[in-house]
Amino acid sequence: MDCLFCKIIAGEVPAEVVREGERTLAFRDINPQAPVHVLVVPKDHHENFAALSADPEALAELAAEAGRVAEDEGVAGTGYRVIFNTGAGAGQTVFHVHAHVLGGRGLNWPPG
Ligand code: 5GP
Ligand code: ZN
Repeated sequence: MDCLFCKIIAGEVPAEVVREGERTLAFRDINPQAPVHVLVVPKDHHENFAALSADPEALAELAAEAGRVAEDEGVAGTGYRVIFNTGAGAGQTVFHVHAHVLGGRGLNWPPG
């Protein structure tokens, strides 16, 4: 399968990894939208949030890792956002589910 994030998980495409769990990998976004912008992915390929939700354990692990990333990156206290862009209309461009962990600056609401 030609999936960019599967290639990062396999080590075939380099990335700046910040955390690795048994079933998850967290790495910095190549085009950061905030001082902290980390992507957290399950090592198993799931296309999007709906597909991941069908595996509640994997979803819970991903959520826990996103929280740990926020702690590690020092934004847990000041505030951060965890985002799953789902579907092309919502800005999803890589169809291997990923949580964006964004923080380190003020974040407007509603998002664009
Ligand atoms: P989406 O638009 O699907 O929600 O998020 C995909 C994210 O992947 C984007 O924020 C984009 O900057 C990031 N991205 C795309 N290609 C690469 C890459 O090769 N390496 C890393 N680390 N991030 C990437
Ligand atoms: Zn994949």
